[in-house]
Amino acid sequence: MPAHIGVTGLAVMGANLARNLARNGFTVALHNRSVEKTDALLAAHGDEGDFIRTESLQELVDSLEKPRRVLIMVKAGAPVDAVVDQLVPLLDEGDIVIDAGNSHYSDTRRREAALAGKGLHFVGVGVSGGEEGALNGPSIMPGGSKESYDALGPLLEKISAHVDGQPCCAWIGTDGAGHFVKMVHNGIEYADMQVIGEAYDLLRSGAGIEPAEQAEIFQEWNKGELSSFLIEISAEVLGHVDAKTGKPFVDVVVDSAGQKGTGRWTVQSALDLGSPVSGIAESVFARGISSQRAQRAIAQETLAGHEAGVALPENFVEDVRQALYASKLVSYAQGLDMLTSAAKEYGWDLKLDEIASLWRAGCIIRAELLKDIMAAYKGDAKPENLLFAPAFVQSVGAAVPAWRRVVATAVQLGIPVPVFSSSLAYYDGLRRKRLPAALIQGQRDLFGAHTYGRVDEEGTFHTQWSGDRSEVNAVDTH
Ligand code: NAP
Repeated sequence: MPAHIGVTGLAVMGANLARNLARNGFTVALHNRSVEKTDALLAAHGDEGDFIRTESLQELVDSLEKPRRVLIMVKAGAPVDAVVDQLVPLLDEGDIVIDAGNSHYSDTRRREAALAGKGLHFVGVGVSGGEEGALNGPSIMPGGSKESYDALGPLLEKISAHVDGQPCCAWIGTDGAGHFVKMVHNGIEYADMQVIGEAYDLLRSGAGIEPAEQAEIFQEWNKGELSSFLIEISAEVLGHVDAKTGKPFVDVVVDSAGQKGTGRWTVQSALDLGSPVSGIAESVFARGISSQRAQRAIAQETLAGHEAGVALPENFVEDVRQALYASKLVSYAQGLDMLTSAAKEYGWDLKLDEIASLWRAGCIIRAELLKDIMAAYKGDAKPENLLFAPAFVQSVGAAVPAWRRVVATAVQLGIPVPVFSSSLAYYDGLRRKRLPAALIQGQRDLFGAHTYGRVDEEGTFHTQWSGDRSEVNAVDTH
């Protein structure tokens, strides 16, 4: 029996995806650069389904039914190119090469174009859910041609997470669309984690609530509109006690957050698109500050705080919950708005309701809220921004007084809340009738003759600042 699919790259992610495929009844051909990983997988889990052991890419290719499906799960970057280069001469027209690692979408676009020129399909697939998800059902975001999805989609849908019988996998769009959406998912994940961190800091440093008690508060929050995987695991982490010292676990962990780069990629891409993902950006920068431990040590000794002794608002815990909800929603709104900008730039027909539905299970940002986000984009009257969907106009609007109290209190107490506050600034920035951008346009025209538009007249204008200050019609350079 030829195999339905081949997997090359059997480190933790590839091995778990291969096992997931086999457990779901597919025959899986296995390959790894060094054969030890293949044999280790077969020794430990060979009885979980039908596997074919191969030692070379030629053997792997020869073991597959046509059109061939070869899933690459190696280290992102140059290793993917190396494997693709070795595979291509072995394949026939119509075969499908799948990259399910965390590749940058621009690499995926480049590889897709190169393989399309050779009559091959290259499919970049975003996979979220970590090791556990890969084994038991991840959220899957495949890009590439629609034709390739017809041959590949049924396998991916079967191994994905499911909600109410619906797979958390659907064709996202051509070329790098799948990896782009996965990247933005990770950007939202960064912001979601940071707002939870800010809530914890406010409750700890502001209200003096110890981690064990906070674990109970987070468990309570997890029953309502904040219900999500990240709130659930935050409760678990906060409730954990360090066995060595008996202290709360969060107190013995170095407060310097690592990152692998997908949050940074999101912000870099957003800058190129001119997409204001301020909350996501602040969450990446917050990890940056946390890692500047030497500077933090000096600042703690030298920089004045002048924190004001403020009375906490009466229902501070509830206020923080509402501020967390509103800030989290802004991060989703910014991420989805970035997808809309990218869809225009790259010619993708991204369906935001479908994307929200894929994130409901299997991935790190899975949350109750996604049901409402899905509903917001269903039907023809799609909101220009998630915040304009009637349900969110209402729910975020109701949280605004608490949100302002929390940000104001945090500022007085000297507790940094970069995502709470930048999200509120974004919300207010959108609402504001007149922005100071008018003054900026004036400055730009004065120092660089960059021109400006007028509120009362069509056209492009320039004031002759160093002359008689008369206004002239100008060629648009702003
Ligand atoms: P990894 O540590 O990123 O990569 C190790 C694998 O790559 C090994 O199989 C290794 O083969 C192979 N490899 C490296 N260079 C190679 C080359 N030049 N030619 C052929 N094979 C090469 O593995 P991983 O942690 O399982 O991650 C795989 C991918 O999934 C990455 O893109 C990673 O970013 C992504 N990932 C995703 C998630 C998620 O939640 N979606 C989580 C973790 C990782 P040898 O055994 O021969 O060295």
